Amino acid sequence: MLKHNFSAGPCILPQEVFQKAAAAVLNFNDLSILEISHRSKDFIEVMEKAQSLALEHLGLTDKGYKALFLGGGATMQFLMVAYNLLEKKAAYLNTGTWSDKAIKEAKLFGEVVEVASSKKDNYNYIPKGYIVPEDVDYFHIQTNNTIFGTQLQYTPDVSVPLICDMSSDIFSRQRDFEKYDLIYAGAQKNMGPAGATLIVVKEDILGKVSRQIPSMLDYRTHIAKESMFNTPPVFPIYVSMLTLEWLKENGGIDAIEKINNEKAALIYNEIDRNPLFKGYVTEKEDRSTMNATFVLNDEAHAPAFDSLWKEAGINGLNGHRSVGGYRASMYNALPLESVQALVDTMQELERKS
Ligand SMILES: *Cc1c(COP(=O)(O)O)cnc(C)c1O
Repeated sequence: MLKHNFSAGPCILPQEVFQKAAAAVLNFNDLSILEISHRSKDFIEVMEKAQSLALEHLGLTDKGYKALFLGGGATMQFLMVAYNLLEKKAAYLNTGTWSDKAIKEAKLFGEVVEVASSKKDNYNYIPKGYIVPEDVDYFHIQTNNTIFGTQLQYTPDVSVPLICDMSSDIFSRQRDFEKYDLIYAGAQKNMGPAGATLIVVKEDILGKVSRQIPSMLDYRTHIAKESMFNTPPVFPIYVSMLTLEWLKENGGIDAIEKINNEKAALIYNEIDRNPLFKGYVTEKEDRSTMNATFVLNDEAHAPAFDSLWKEAGINGLNGHRSVGGYRASMYNALPLESVQALVDTMQELERKS
């Protein structure tokens, strides 16, 4: 039996994508996808398709944006963003560990204004009512905080470029994507295997800092070379392309958002209803549809609960070490039935205790 995979990342991908990817390892136009040249016509087609599908899903085709697939993970973007865009001062919203890490890197390049932070409450809510200064080079946010299970439900209205780490909720819901000037996302949360990072950047925000930028870290290099300045992560890009095709065949972001909302409603209703559990996030409006974090009211039930969900074939439910408890990551490919299987174990625990 295949497991119900609630892992936070690398995470579940559609079974059809695994089948197509496996077939391409054995035979991709009479070679293996693992041995083809990234300069081959066949791979250039894959790259172009992945880039155009990413822009198409976000509604950003022909709007001055470029899609890049690079290595280095989302973590590399923490510094690339600042290297390319931070001349004097940048504003950051600190909503989680990943924001904190992005801020640390940005400080190497200029002044950082932390407009608000929920760090002292271990990030169990999204700060509100902050003011973004108008004299900053950009404003940086994270839409979804993978570790803590909070999610920004709106897009900030700012007069400066808006930069966003969307690693763990890209392609899961609609947003006003045109309000963003640069979006980045590590593939392994909702798009593909680890190893590729998607960057969608509005070209006209680039080229404004006075510092010299090493070629490999300069977005303009990768735009000019169509993400082929050096050897790109061929296989992760191929699998990402397959996932983006799968998403399109299944109705795109609009359709998946409905299912994601159903999955989130199912788990959160149970967390709120079941007297043995409580949610980690203090403000319900800040709850993530991708990562639901929750704890047992009484730790004494932990051994019984852990064996129940493991017996039910559930994988990857342990919370991040900085939060504890449980985290149900419900990315696009996780079926509603998996969430139902988890809810069943929570109800069984209640009956048995
Ligand atoms: C996982 C994650 C990262 C780190 O991604 P890497 O690809 O491992 O560098 C950054 N930001 C968010 C929101 C994440 O979920």
